[in-house]
Amino acid sequence: MKYLSEFRDPALVEDFLNEIHKITTQPWTLMEICGGQTHSLVKNGIPALLPDKITLVHGPGCPVCVTSIGIIDEAIYLAQQRDIILCSFGDMLRVPGSQKSLLEVKAEGADVRILYSPLEAVKLAEENPNKQVVFFAVGFETTAPANALSVVLAAQYKLENYSILASHVLVPPAMEAILSDENNTIDAFLAAGHVCTIMGLDEYYPIAQKYKCPIVVTGFEPVDLLQGILMAVTQLEKGEYKVENQYSRSVLPQGNLIAQQTIHQVFEVNDRVWRGIGNIPQSGYDVNTVFKKYNARLKFNIDIIPAEENKECISGDIMKGLKKPKQCPNFGTKCKPEHPLGAPMVSSEGACAAYYHYAEH
Ligand code: SF4
Repeated sequence: MKYLSEFRDPALVEDFLNEIHKITTQPWTLMEICGGQTHSLVKNGIPALLPDKITLVHGPGCPVCVTSIGIIDEAIYLAQQRDIILCSFGDMLRVPGSQKSLLEVKAEGADVRILYSPLEAVKLAEENPNKQVVFFAVGFETTAPANALSVVLAAQYKLENYSILASHVLVPPAMEAILSDENNTIDAFLAAGHVCTIMGLDEYYPIAQKYKCPIVVTGFEPVDLLQGILMAVTQLEKGEYKVENQYSRSVLPQGNLIAQQTIHQVFEVNDRVWRGIGNIPQSGYDVNTVFKKYNARLKFNIDIIPAEENKECISGDIMKGLKKPKQCPNFGTKCKPEHPLGAPMVSSEGACAAYYHYAEH
């Protein structure tokens, strides 16, 4: 339990809460980027324990939530082809595309499998030489190294039947897009600790300076989150806007250089449409030209016209910090985990699911 129990220590939680109450003199709005942080905050009842002057809003850091309907439709198209095994992480199966979800096409007979690692998908391709195995590679910078490694391994093993449908999203461009929105009210960010474990801190300095916005890289346990909030509010109260690292037990300033090399070996940065938010320039990874034979989009010549999003779902406003889940008119009524209108009610990192499961509704 080392590195867990001490970060859930009630005495430390109380100390940090007292300190936050003591120093807060003005209203501040803080956004935690990561859906894992959102769940930890809401599950532990932290928003209600903070001073009334502090508002927490929830960012776009749920990979399932931001995967566009168009890409889910592409995955469904692939799953419906004969001789293709479509593999993905579990949460992706229940997210609605324009017509149906991957779970529904699986029920109709498509070979859709839940895996926990893209390396399992490479093994599946080795074991099924007469099938094409496609891994639906979603996620932020955190999952990109393993997905890239799967492509490197497939190339080493000379596999002709493995490819990935890449839908990676990058955090810093999304933060800039949120801060550039004239309606945004965000005073400081709690940045996602695991993303920074891979990428380090360098990308955050220009954002903090340009938007005069403190950024505190923060972990996921209650003590982490409260210390991150305290660090952010301390800066705000002093009029500072620095990048600070609360999660130093995991995050090195330079990040994980080997993981970064693997990412850059396989992926190139491209524009990406985020569900609910729209196109964010240079905010995604796709397979580069060197490894293009492992790009499922090219390999299977996918050409699907992007569908419109469900206008009843306001997930974009929630992920930009403009609204909270309970402000959605469909929250807990038309939209519940068992019949979701949008991805944030499905995903284990979705803000709407966090409020549905842990906060009164
Ligand atoms: S409650 Fe449902 S419809 Fe409303 S924003 Fe969340 S996922 Fe979308």
